[in-house]
Amino acid sequence: MPKCRVCRKEAWIRVPWANAWFCREHFIKYYEEAVWRTFRKYVPRSHSRILFAVSGGKDSIALLHSLAPRLVEQGREVAVLFIDLGIKGYSDEALRIVEENAGSLGLKLIVKRLSDYGFTIDDVATLYYAKILKRPTCSVCGLAKRYLMNLISLEENYDIVLTGHNLDDAVIFSLISIGSGRLLDLVKMKPYIPGKGKLVARAKPLIFMYEIENKWYVEAKGLRIVSVKCPYTPVKESMHFDLKEALRYIDEKHPGYNKMLMRNIVDSLIPSIKPRQEEKLIQCSICGMPSSTDPCGFCRIKKKVSDYRVKIAN
Ligand code: SF4
Ligand code: ZN
Ligand code: ZN
Repeated sequence: MPKCRVCRKEAWIRVPWANAWFCREHFIKYYEEAVWRTFRKYVPRSHSRILFAVSGGKDSIALLHSLAPRLVEQGREVAVLFIDLGIKGYSDEALRIVEENAGSLGLKLIVKRLSDYGFTIDDVATLYYAKILKRPTCSVCGLAKRYLMNLISLEENYDIVLTGHNLDDAVIFSLISIGSGRLLDLVKMKPYIPGKGKLVARAKPLIFMYEIENKWYVEAKGLRIVSVKCPYTPVKESMHFDLKEALRYIDEKHPGYNKMLMRNIVDSLIPSIKPRQEEKLIQCSICGMPSSTDPCGFCRIKKKVSDYRVKIAN
């Protein structure tokens, strides 16, 4: 029977890239230390009002439980943000899960509904299927989440938003950026992006944690996560899916390879990329938020949805 590397009790899990077995308790410690190391290394200590964007999935729930108690202990102001995307059969359960997790940690929960800002992701999907919107639903969903996370942090006076982006997705995003020649996009994978003007600082403390590690952590702690799948989850034929399979295969043969790859992207490749010139941001003439286009992407989607509603009502 394998033994835990730390306490020599019966082991619960083998972590191949650490070449170690752990009992539940020491896996939890290993995981929390790893998340804390990333946070401490990249995020300046000056941030005192911290907002966790939590969707109810394994990544954001693992982020919340592994990091929030430590930040609270340090006297920092911590709250949870849940954005109700208006996805039938999914958003309601997600909200219940986030309420339960924020409650168990005694954290303030801020709930905002995308519908209060003009549309839902179900509306977006309807327009996409009707070929009125060309941008895929998940891409609009990402845009809407980023926009609201920033806006709500500003309104509620938080100076940084933390998200649960995991290592697998970060490596895939990086490889797609390199493959398509959009090297500048890699900068989005920095674990920490400082705030500027109306743009609030953002951090991804799980960027070096495998998706499976987040799943093990949630299991080890017995945490509840959303059990239903979003109906708009990308299909298996996508490039994203194929890369995920390929990277999983490589990591099985060479444990830890993807971790090393992401560390080198963050610490060596990104700092060597010279921005052509700093992207010039203008102010959206509708909502006043910084954007590279006028109106901003969020206001354009909102207008398309409202035009469509008017059209079908007539
Ligand atoms: Fe949004 Fe796509 Fe995730 Fe559903 S699967 S929550 S639409 S990003
Ligand atoms: Zn142990
Ligand atoms: Zn706008």
